[in-house]
Amino acid sequence: MNACADEAAVAARTSPPRIVTERGQREVFCGLTGIIWLHRKLQDAFFLVVGSRTCAHLIQSAAGVMIFAEPRFATAIIGERDLAGLADANAELDRVVSELLARRPDTRLLFLVGSCPSEVIKLDLSRAAQRLSRQFMPRVRVLNYSGSGIETTFTQGEDACLAALVNELPELAAAAPKSLLIVGTLADVIEDQFRRLFAALGIERVDFLPPRRATELPAVGANTRFLLAQPFLADTARALEARGARRIAAPFPLGVEGTTLWFEAAAREWQIDAAHAHSVTAAASERAARALERHRPRLAGKSIFFFPDSQLEVPLARFLARELSMRLIEVGTPYLHREHLAEELALLPAATQITEGQHVDRQLDRCRAAQPDLAVCGLGLANPLEAEGIVTKWSIEFVFTPIQGYEQAADLAELCARPLIRQSLLAV
Ligand code: SF4
Repeated sequence: MNACADEAAVAARTSPPRIVTERGQREVFCGLTGIIWLHRKLQDAFFLVVGSRTCAHLIQSAAGVMIFAEPRFATAIIGERDLAGLADANAELDRVVSELLARRPDTRLLFLVGSCPSEVIKLDLSRAAQRLSRQFMPRVRVLNYSGSGIETTFTQGEDACLAALVNELPELAAAAPKSLLIVGTLADVIEDQFRRLFAALGIERVDFLPPRRATELPAVGANTRFLLAQPFLADTARALEARGARRIAAPFPLGVEGTTLWFEAAAREWQIDAAHAHSVTAAASERAARALERHRPRLAGKSIFFFPDSQLEVPLARFLARELSMRLIEVGTPYLHREHLAEELALLPAATQITEGQHVDRQLDRCRAAQPDLAVCGLGLANPLEAEGIVTKWSIEFVFTPIQGYEQAADLAELCARPLIRQSLLAV
C-alpha cells in the first residue's frame, strides 16, 4: 500500500485539489451539540446553556436517551421577562448556578454556554463567569464560551470550549522537558491506546486536552508540542500557540495511513529512529489493514458526495479514497483551514473537487445530478435525500463514534458501509 500511496501523493502534488468557495443558505447545527461528547469526556464538568427552550430541545434531542442518566448539562431558560429587559438576568443566573452547584457537589468545572438568545440580549457571560468563579473557587472554576449557531458549525462548540480551557492551563516550567499534548476530544478507549503507543515510541510526557477531569489540566508552555486529533480546532490551536506551544504538522489519525503518519510526525519531532517507530506501529497497523479488507468489497469503486457539516470531511475523504478506493465526487467542508489541513490536501487524489462554505441549493443540484452511491450530510438533508433515493450517512455520527486510531479503522469503514448494506437489503 505504501508504494501506491506515494504515487497518489505525487499525483496529488502535481494536480492539487480544486477548491471552490460558495456562499449561500446553510444547513448546519449549532455549537451546543458539542456538549454531548464534551460532557462525556470531562467527567467532573457541568455545562449550563444560557438559552431558550429551543436550545434545551436541541441538546435533549441530540443527547437522546441520555436525558434519563443524570446528564451533566442543563439549560437556564431565558424567559420573556429577561428578553424584555424586565428582570435582572445576572441575578437570575447567579441563583440558578447556586442551586445547581448545591445539587451537584461533584462539579469542579462549570461552563456557562452562550447561545443565540443570550447574545441577542447581550448577556455578558464572561463577566458572569468571573463573578461566579470568585464566589465558588477553589471548589468550582466557572468558564464561559459561545455555542451560538448563527455563523458557526456544530463542531466549533468544542473548539470554543477548549480554547476557553487553554487560558486556564497552568504554565509549564521553562526548564521542563519537552512534552506532547494531544488536542481534541477522544474516547477514553482511544486515549488509552494512544498512550500505550506513545510510551512504546519513547515519548514519556503525554497529556490530553480535554483531560478526563478538570483537576488534571495539563501544563503548557514553550516546551509543549501539540498534535491535533480533530481538524476543527483552529481557535484552540491559536490559543495554545499564544501560550508558546508549537503544533506538529501531520494528517489526522483516521484510517491506517493517517494514524501511522500522525505517530510518525510525533516520532520525528522527538528524533526517534524511523525503524523503531515502524516497529512500534507495525503490528497494530497490519492488523488494522487486514480488518479494513472486510469492507473493501462493499465500498471500493463506490462514489461519495460530502455536504459541508462537521469539518471532518477532508480527512474522511482522504481515508475512503486511498484506503478503500471510493470515488470522491465532491468534498464539501464548511471551513478549510489550509495550514492545518495541508498534509491532508497533499494526500487527496489528483484534482479532487473541494467546496468550502455552503450554497445548499446548488450543492443539492450537483448531488442529484451526480447520483452518488453515498452522500454524507447533516441530519436536515438526510431524509429529503433518502426520499429521492440517495443513500445517506449522518456526518454527526463520525463525531459521536470513536473512529480515530488503528483499532477503530475498520469501525470507521463500517460506518460508511452500513447504509449501503441497508440499501441492498431493502432493494427487491
Ligand atoms: S441555533 Fe441558537 S437558538 Fe438555536 S439551539 Fe442553537 S444556540 Fe439555541
